[in-house]
Amino acid sequence: MLATVELPLLINGRQVAPLSNQTLDVVNPATEQVEVRVADAGPGDVDLAVRAACGSFETTWRRITPTGRGNLLYRLAELVKLHAAEIALLDTKDMGKPYRHALEHDAAGAVEVLQFYAGLCDKIRGSQIPAGVDKHIHVVREPVGVVACILPWNFPFASAVQKLAPALACGNTIVLKPAEQSPRSALRLAEPCLDAGIFPGVVNTVTGRGETTGSALAGHPGVGKISFTGSTEVGRKIVHAAAEHVSKFTLELGGKSSFIVFPDAPLEAAVAASVATSCYNSGQVCTSGSRLVLHRDIHDQFLDALIRQMKELKVGDPMQSDTKLGPLCSAEQLQRVRGYVELGSGSYSTLSGGWRSESLVKGYYQDPVVFDHVDPASTLAQEEIFGPVLSVIDFETEEQALQIANQTRYGLATSIWTRDIGRAHRMASLVDSGFVWINTSNDWTPAVP
Ligand code: NAD
Repeated sequence: MLATVELPLLINGRQVAPLSNQTLDVVNPATEQVEVRVADAGPGDVDLAVRAACGSFETTWRRITPTGRGNLLYRLAELVKLHAAEIALLDTKDMGKPYRHALEHDAAGAVEVLQFYAGLCDKIRGSQIPAGVDKHIHVVREPVGVVACILPWNFPFASAVQKLAPALACGNTIVLKPAEQSPRSALRLAEPCLDAGIFPGVVNTVTGRGETTGSALAGHPGVGKISFTGSTEVGRKIVHAAAEHVSKFTLELGGKSSFIVFPDAPLEAAVAASVATSCYNSGQVCTSGSRLVLHRDIHDQFLDALIRQMKELKVGDPMQSDTKLGPLCSAEQLQRVRGYVELGSGSYSTLSGGWRSESLVKGYYQDPVVFDHVDPASTLAQEEIFGPVLSVIDFETEEQALQIANQTRYGLATSIWTRDIGRAHRMASLVDSGFVWINTSNDWTPAVP
């Protein structure tokens, strides 16, 4: 039934029409047009993919030397670099991020991630436990087998590579399941893998809906580990699925991160970073500093500068090189974000924005919006909006800032801005947060866990 599916599944190194005979439309959020149809893989398709990954784990990937794996990953990095423009375009068309960001940040970052893990392959060591002369105890780090990689739509290609690279480096094989909104770059990734010489079946891609393809993959008994990035709600389902087969899992979930600015901070840099963290990728970033926790003494001065900069950001066609905010990923996401904007408009002063850039007739666009003097316990300050919506929360003392930062059910990231090194360290150790940045924000290298 390939006729109805423009992009088939990629299993065992081959393009395969889905047994399910179901398809999924992929809509370009800048044009609101269906661009392509992909397979909505059912349990039978997922089973084929997991079996292919199991087979190649046993027969090829676990048997080659770590240096051999590293060389193949280096080759893959080169091929991704070569095809970066084409890959970046797929992400822009699928989920609306500015092409320039897709190319210069996501695709270029993916190359660095591949190079980093290529170098790691032959450095994964075990240990030895002394037990006298007649006993030898070795602790060996072994691959788990098949890793199910379930991806979100906000960084489609980057997150595919962030999962593929460590899994393959450690000797595992994978089944990638991209988000339904952004499946094309993960399908495309399978091609340079094969061209690099990575054996068929080591990397497989199944597209489809979360409830069908995703749950079939997470619940498959042949999967040794689930690596999931997405919402907390689905993360919970992943834990249940993993429990069913007692498989391992890693979850990277949502965030509602604080960006805390003290009066002694380098303010110019802080303003620029606050604008960037709340508007980059149209605010669809898990570590977005969407709560601006601002000291009262600098409140007016800081916001004046911030609003001025936000108004200069071009919202529009993601293919134009000066565009800073493309459309949101989908009509559903736009509706969700507008719901929060409406809620905020009824309760707080709105400092910037509007519904959408006037000249844009089509596309799921949302201008940046800032709400001032937001109650830290309110919905706006507590829920992940995943759009360019910034909530400003005032504070006076360091203790208050800390309480506000920790008054959230999330714990993904915090950015602290101060020139007082003692305060920086104190705050860093007391905020309940996986990432803590001092005088910077959303700053990574592939070596950061
Ligand atoms: P989502 O949870 O709706 O979907 C994520 C993936 O899970 C998709 O591939 C989806 O098809 C799949 N899925 C859905 N239901 C499933 C099920 N029952 N079983 C298995 N798989 C299922 O999230 P999203 O809307 O794609 O992404 C946005 C979320 O991701 C936000 O909350 C964001 O903060 C989070 N995110 C976190 C990080 C991080 O590193 N912490 C990075 C990016 C995004």
